Order: sequence, then C-alpha cells, then structure tokens
Amino acid sequence: MVEDILQNFNIEAFNSDLLTWYHENKRMLPWRETKDPYSIWVSEIMLQQTKVDTVIPYFKRFMEKYPTVYSLANAPEEEVLKEWEGLGYYSRARNLHTAVREVVENYDGTVPDEKKELGSLKGVGPYTQGAILSIAFNQPEPAVDGNVMRVFSRLLLINDDIARPRTKKHFEIVVREVISEEDPSSFNQAIMDLGATICTPKSPACLICPVQEHCRAFEVGAQGELPVKSKAKKQKPIFYAALKVKNADGNYLIEKRPDTGLLANMYQFPMVPLGEVAAGDIPSWFKEEYGVEVKLGKRDGDLRHVFSHLIWDIEIYEAETDAVEIGDKRLRLASPDEMKKLPFPVSHLRIRGF
Ligand code: SF4
Repeated sequence: MVEDILQNFNIEAFNSDLLTWYHENKRMLPWRETKDPYSIWVSEIMLQQTKVDTVIPYFKRFMEKYPTVYSLANAPEEEVLKEWEGLGYYSRARNLHTAVREVVENYDGTVPDEKKELGSLKGVGPYTQGAILSIAFNQPEPAVDGNVMRVFSRLLLINDDIARPRTKKHFEIVVREVISEEDPSSFNQAIMDLGATICTPKSPACLICPVQEHCRAFEVGAQGELPVKSKAKKQKPIFYAALKVKNADGNYLIEKRPDTGLLANMYQFPMVPLGEVAAGDIPSWFKEEYGVEVKLGKRDGDLRHVFSHLIWDIEIYEAETDAVEIGDKRLRLASPDEMKKLPFPVSHLRIRGF
C-alpha cells in the first residue's frame, strides 16, 4: 500500500529540494544551537500544543535553571511546575521531571539513544521519540504530528482522517520510506519548518514552496481540502465560582489541587461548583466542604478558560474570612509574595491579577 502511494514519487529529488531549502532558510531557534539530546527533549516537550514564539523564553529560562538532567532530576516538583507556569499542559512538566529522574537512576544520566529504552520513559511518545532520535542522534526515525500529517497528506494526496489514531501510524510508515538516510535530523526539522512557514493550515504558500514540483495536491488544486480532519467533540462547560478569600492579615486562602488529574499539584483559589450549590448559598457549601466560614463580597468579574476537553466558566468573587488557622489539608493561607513563588495555572493567574 505504501508502495502504491509512493509510486512515481521521486524520493531522492524531493529530499534534495527539501534539504537545500532548509539549509538556506531554517529558523534560528535556541534548541537548534545544540545536539544535546536533553535540550532537544525539553524543547520537543515544550513545543507540544504550544507555539514556537511562546516556547522560546520558557526554554531559555528552563535550560539556564536546569542545564543538565541532574539539575532537573534534583529539583523539587513544585519548583519545576513554577518554571512551567503559564505554558499549560502541566502533565508534560511532571512527566519530563519523572522521566529525567529515570534517566539519572537507570541510564547513568545519559539520554538513551535506543528506541525502546527512550520510548519507555514517561511522556516520551512516538513523536518525541522520533524527534530526539533523529535530531540528536541522526537516526532515520519519523516524527509525525499534526503538522507533518498535513504536509504529507497534501504532498501525496492522502485523504485519511488525521484525527484518527491509526492514520498517524500510516503516516509514520510513509515518512519512514521518504526520510533522508543521510540527514534525518535536517529532514524532520525541514518538514516541521515547511509546515510552520509555507504549508500552513490555511492558505498554504504553494507558489513559493520548495517542494511544489513534487506536490500532488498542488497539481490538482486540492491543497485547500487537505488534510481531512473530523471535528473533535465539543468541550463540556462546567460552571464555578472562584473565591478570592482574604483574612484580616491580607493573606489569601489558596488550594493545592490533587496530585493526579487535571492541573495536578497546581495552586488555585478555591472553586465552588455552581451546579451543586443552591442559588446564593456559596458560603454554606464552602463551610461544609472546607470547614471555613466565609463572607461573600462583590463579584469581581468572569473568566472562561478552555481546555482541550472541557471549559471552565468561572464567576469570580471577593470574600472574607476570620480564619487564621485552617484545618483542611488542601487549603492554606498565603501572602501575595508567597503566592508568587507557587505554581498557578493561567486561569488562576488571571484571577489573581498580581
Ligand atoms: Fe503544501 Fe502547497 Fe507546498 Fe504542496 S505545494 S507542500 S500544498 S505549500
């Protein structure tokens, strides 16, 4: 089947055109200044679901603070989450941290260059595995994500639904056949750059595309119809009231989220699920849940935060409490300065406002 798809596709000429373009036009990115597998690993984890421009300052700060696997492995989780604050998808940071500790414990601090070992590390899926093996170790391994599937579905006129997991496996087989044996590192990065700068999701710049001559979608004018992607399920909204509860000392009541699941171990203002609360009875719910008496103050705005699978619709309230000591283990009182040292997700940074 792959043979059918690649029939009459001139792999050698395609690689030559792609790599010539890449060497003349590649984006200057901080993680491209090194072949260090740990740096490349960090960059690839940060780049998942996140734009390059957003990642650059985070990457620089992170590598300055944790230049080696040892420095990251020895850091406390809360500090690592703080460095990741604002980047989102915090399980990426937790998994990276766990995996780096595995590297120190089981591989003497050397990132494995063997596919199976690398893929067994926490958070290293086929894409990250392929990216590290090709970019850092120059192994001809595909690194297929949504961008790569878009480019290849156009190049080879493949109309499989890229939202389906088995389509990705199919593309991995195709890319494995096409990838340059001489320079797989540049090949994967060239495809990433092509997808980011020329073969973009909307209005691809076909007229200046370095591989236009090889592109079947361009030949038949179908580039606007590819890739085929079925719509994701709609996110489910959940309604909350977030309470900025302050005591007389100017300290706020904050909550540490559970150590598993969404935003695990991050800090937030306590959130009252409005679906479970009778109208106007937020303080009673609060007392029952946390054992803390609060007096509700004025409404301080609304906030909507969209995750990949759900939406938080949050009403923000100011509130007061006389409490000085808190019994509930999830909660603690913290001054604004202390709060600034703790990891908060973006939604609650916005609620915090300082
Ligand atoms: Fe993408 Fe157009 Fe280039 Fe084809 S010719 S790879 S559709 S930019």
